[in-house]
Amino acid sequence: MASLPSCIFCKIIKGEIPSLKLFESDKTYAFLDIGPLSSGHSLIIPKHHGAKLHDMPADQLTEILPVAARIAQAVGCEDYNILQNNGRIAHQVVDHVHFHMIPKPNEAEGLG
Ligand code: 5GP
Ligand code: ZN
Repeated sequence: MASLPSCIFCKIIKGEIPSLKLFESDKTYAFLDIGPLSSGHSLIIPKHHGAKLHDMPADQLTEILPVAARIAQAVGCEDYNILQNNGRIAHQVVDHVHFHMIPKPNEAEGLG
């Protein structure tokens, strides 16, 4: 399914819900998470709508990890987590495949 009108991430892609966009191409969209776990916490999504990873054609996913890595670099974080939840028990809340890029700042920096 290319797009699902009721899906909040499809609405973000179409600009019907505002987002802080970090990257966009013909098949990928990236934006800041509204509830960040750390500064720069981003969501990288395929534009093609699919609820879970196994619903998503592999060719829709080829840019996801390179874009996540570029955003991590752009926010100055060498270390980061990629998180991808599938299903309620696995803590998926939004049913449009998305990859979290969660920067892990160096806690020691700035401490005496
Ligand atoms: P999940 O638990 O489904 O893996 O994560 C969904 C993520 O989407 C959460 O981290 C949540 O903060 C984020 N989110 C939900 N709604 C919106 C929204 O309208 N805008 C943005 N930027 N992030 C959202
Ligand atoms: Zn969607």
